[in-house]
Amino acid sequence: MTTDDLDAMIADAAGRLRRAGHVCCLTGAGISAESGVATFRGAGGLWEGRRVEDVATPGAFTRDPEDVWQFYLWRRRQLVDKKPNAGHDALAEIERVLADFTLITQNVDNLHRLAGSSNVIELHGNVWTDRCTACPRENRSNKAPNASSESILDQIPHCENCGEMMRPGVVWFGEMLPADALAAAQEVSARCDVMLVAGTSAVVQPAASLAYWAQASGAAIIEINPDATPLSPLVDIRLPLPAGQVLPQIAQALSG
Ligand code: NAD
Ligand code: ZN
Repeated sequence: MTTDDLDAMIADAAGRLRRAGHVCCLTGAGISAESGVATFRGAGGLWEGRRVEDVATPGAFTRDPEDVWQFYLWRRRQLVDKKPNAGHDALAEIERVLADFTLITQNVDNLHRLAGSSNVIELHGNVWTDRCTACPRENRSNKAPNASSESILDQIPHCENCGEMMRPGVVWFGEMLPADALAAAQEVSARCDVMLVAGTSAVVQPAASLAYWAQASGAAIIEINPDATPLSPLVDIRLPLPAGQVLPQIAQALSG
């Protein structure tokens, strides 16, 4: 792809966004890759050599809550010093420029909010949330203690309402998505005129189906991902470059 080709595609993308009544963006782990957060399938591996079933399923938590909490506290520690990158920043800027923009993310790392995006649907929860295993209580937590001498048992939070054990506020494999978040995501996907799809392998369901849903409802799809995905052959514009490179150019073309 030449620079001229890329410039033409960026201009095309910005034009479509400007003309659209409603725009949404679906993001995945790839948008945080340039912040140094490992993607699920990427090199390095988020799960640190742990099998997903051992740490990210309801069964794992029932069997060994300490082990699962240990893992999520480790994930928080990994995130403590991570900052939003140019891709996150550009999406916050695009939200400021467009009248009606919704961000749907599969990420649990909170970086979109840190970048300043406010209309965000978190499909898979947020690692900085504790949720009660017995009652509806949910709260933000910035606790990311070191796996030091302190026993992990002392670090597991308990509910201020009912005293039961809290669990990480993320969606595990084999669990349903939060019904309100999924319904909101489906509503905006069906309603949007353009959907940006950035940094997702488009294979984790039901998140991936949102792009197909948007397209079936008449939306144009713009994909930003260095690697091809199952969605790639179907999209209207495919920008095969890192999100941190392409999204700022789109934001600039929109504001300019
Ligand atoms: P994935 O790991 O399956 O796929 C990441 C995609 O991003 C790949 O297609 C890759 O080609 C692309 N990518 C890599 N670098 C990129 C860049 N700089 N710019 C644009 N694209 C880039 O991620 P997924 O589709 O989000 O699904 C994995 C699941 O794991 C999700 O459910 C998510 O909740 C969870 N997860 C979240 C985080 C996070 O919060 N940061 C990290 C890892 C996994
Ligand atoms: Zn409770």
